[in-house]
Amino acid sequence: KIELPKHVDYIIKELQKHGYEAYAVGGCVRDVILGREPEDWDITTSASPRQVKEIFKRTVDTGILHGTVTVMFDKMGYEVTTYRIDGEYEDNRHPKEVTYTPYLSEDLMRRDFTINAMAYNEESGLVDIFEGLKDLKEGRIRCVGSAARRFDEDALRILRAVRFSAQLGFDIEEETFLAAKEMAEHLQNISAERIRTEINKLLLSPHPDRLFIAYELGITKVVLPEFDPMMNENKLTWKGEEPRGSFYLRSIKLIEEKLASAGKGKEKEYLILAWTLLLQGLSAEEGREVLKRLKFDNETTEYVYRLITWNSYEFLLTPYGMRKAANLIGKDLMRMLFCVKETLILAEEGSLSNRKGGELEKAKELYKEILNKHECVELKELLVNGKDLIELGLKPGKAMGQVLGELLEAVLQEPSLNNKESLRELAAEKIVS
Ligand code: ATP
Ligand code: MG
Repeated sequence: KIELPKHVDYIIKELQKHGYEAYAVGGCVRDVILGREPEDWDITTSASPRQVKEIFKRTVDTGILHGTVTVMFDKMGYEVTTYRIDGEYEDNRHPKEVTYTPYLSEDLMRRDFTINAMAYNEESGLVDIFEGLKDLKEGRIRCVGSAARRFDEDALRILRAVRFSAQLGFDIEEETFLAAKEMAEHLQNISAERIRTEINKLLLSPHPDRLFIAYELGITKVVLPEFDPMMNENKLTWKGEEPRGSFYLRSIKLIEEKLASAGKGKEKEYLILAWTLLLQGLSAEEGREVLKRLKFDNETTEYVYRLITWNSYEFLLTPYGMRKAANLIGKDLMRMLFCVKETLILAEEGSLSNRKGGELEKAKELYKEILNKHECVELKELLVNGKDLIELGLKPGKAMGQVLGELLEAVLQEPSLNNKESLRELAAEKIVS
């Protein structure tokens, strides 16, 4: 027996009261059986979208063309989708048309994997026509029906198979695996956004190193071709010789462990770190191109670009050296850069009790002191600004920028100079000379 959240239970019972069938379906059923918290609750019903909208007060047409209406309670939305058969597929991409069906079994048949094709309501219990429960218990990703046909209809499912394998720690069943390998090239027809979503879910999973399976299946060759050469080059670490690509995946696994303890809400930062580790073998420009191609947001793309750039920077382990580093690198990046460096030392050496680990520890301490003392390392922390310099007779423009730069450098060298009086004095000297 599955405990449904009260809104889901209400929606299902309300639909049934009006003479329709309704079930919780797909990912949420899979997740509760596994004891995982479902991301969202999807409901499948024999009612048409129009009929669903007649029953519930607050609805949003989120995917009306595909039969989906979102029913709102408080701020929560529940997707209610009419039983449907996906029509013929175009370009291994989307169904040309959707057809509604009165049968739950046909709706379950269109779904990708057996573990995602189970439905539940209180009245009928678990509806499991494709042995999804067995595959769930035995840890298997298996297509519903003929794997080759299902991948031909929608090539994204090939990447989804790997993603679920990484999220759940499951194996991919043989027929499904072989068909995936056969059809991986079709992923070239899939949009960057859909691919990005799946790779990100894979990287956020407990087994990000299963990106290796995507490599084995020929998926990375299509969606992340920069990764494949990294598997053909060896790197010497405390584990011995290993492909550089495997080393990167092992590093990502190390921050995954940190994410698990940091919890939710850290996903964006974690993805920035994961992509930095994955792409560090490229130049910062090449790395940026990968993320642009996958249509990442600008913030993520720029952070990864800067982290790759500064990852090779060697800290000068003096108070001045660290102020200078913080100035060049930017305070917004320092914590993440420390994390990247620490992760790489751990992956390379197996521990932090070594020269590199010691030096990093020292750098972190020096930086912490800068923060504790509120020392100025950025222009915006300088206690004079352009207006002050205008009062001293300087005109806005290039010369002004130059003087501000020199004042900042003076403060980096001697933090106690960061007060209005000293800075004005210093500025006056510079203006005269
Ligand atoms: P999660 O939400 O945890 O990422 P999920 O299984 O809920 O995983 P969704 O993408 O939310 O995945 O899709 C919900 C359900 O819709 C799936 O469980 C599956 O039954 C079906 N589904 C989603 N995408 C596809 C697809 N490309 N082909 C066939 N069925 C799909
Ligand atoms: Mg879902």
